[in-house]
Amino acid sequence: MGYREEFIMHPGAKLHLDRIDPSYKGKQESHEKAAPLIAESLAQMGRLQELLYADASQSLLIVLQGLDAAGKDGVVRHLFTGMNPQGTRVFSFKQPSTEERAHDFLWRVHQHAPGRGEVVVYNRSHYEDVLVVRVHELVPRKVWSKRYELINDFENMLAKNGTRILKFYLHISPEEQLERFKQRLDDPARQWKISESDYSERLLWPKYTEAYEEAIERTSTKTAPWFVVPANHKWFRDLAISQIVADAMSGMNLKTPPPRIDLAAIRKKYHAAAEKGRRKNAWA
Ligand code: AMP
Ligand code: MG
Repeated sequence: MGYREEFIMHPGAKLHLDRIDPSYKGKQESHEKAAPLIAESLAQMGRLQELLYADASQSLLIVLQGLDAAGKDGVVRHLFTGMNPQGTRVFSFKQPSTEERAHDFLWRVHQHAPGRGEVVVYNRSHYEDVLVVRVHELVPRKVWSKRYELINDFENMLAKNGTRILKFYLHISPEEQLERFKQRLDDPARQWKISESDYSERLLWPKYTEAYEEAIERTSTKTAPWFVVPANHKWFRDLAISQIVADAMSGMNLKTPPPRIDLAAIRKKYHAAAEKGRRKNAWA
């Protein structure tokens, strides 16, 4: 069953992030002991993704949100180890370009939504438009406050078109974030990841918390639920997310599609002569 029930935000429920322990790991004792469970979910996801691709009637959209160093990039790397790159895409949303800014906030996001048979991960998403945009007052309140409803309508439309949507908030503590910044600072291979704004954004932690709480409360729906995943332990985060994704994919009723040809007729027409050693030449 996995962690679905434990971390799902039921529509209408109140979210108090300060009451959720970012270091939670449930009954799991250690990474070593959880590793086989993680491997099992990844293998299951891989099998189901093949079916999703073959069936080509539905799609899956995974939204990742969280503060800097919460682990979004790590989850992307991890989730896809089990999947075939053919049929999957990741899109990382940065600050909007001039062209993107000239359109409505969902314009750029919609373009990258998964086509039938595809799995797409949004690393950041349209939620930035009610998070960073709200915290920094990049648009007035009367503009961003209307976006929750627009987001629900948009996601509902995608869902009605056959897209399963799963949204994850990676919940880390400020202490863990600072520790991860320090590790990046000390590791020459990862220093490129650090920017000074990472530190100045930290000072806005309470504002981001408030923005996340409202966004998650107002946009967790039956068709597009949010999951608040404790993410101080990277392995626990990976376990929870891979189980929730595998679980959702098994609920999609994916089946190997029936053949598009008459198998017996094709066997007879193209293979019978070769099997009886009566081929005229190599290609006929
Ligand atoms: P990173 O994820 O570290 O590559 O950084 C991407 C940056 O783009 C983050 O600081 C985001 O807050 C910012 N960003 C993403 N979407 C938007 C948006 N719609 N408006 C403003 N900033 C955004
Ligand atoms: Mg960053």
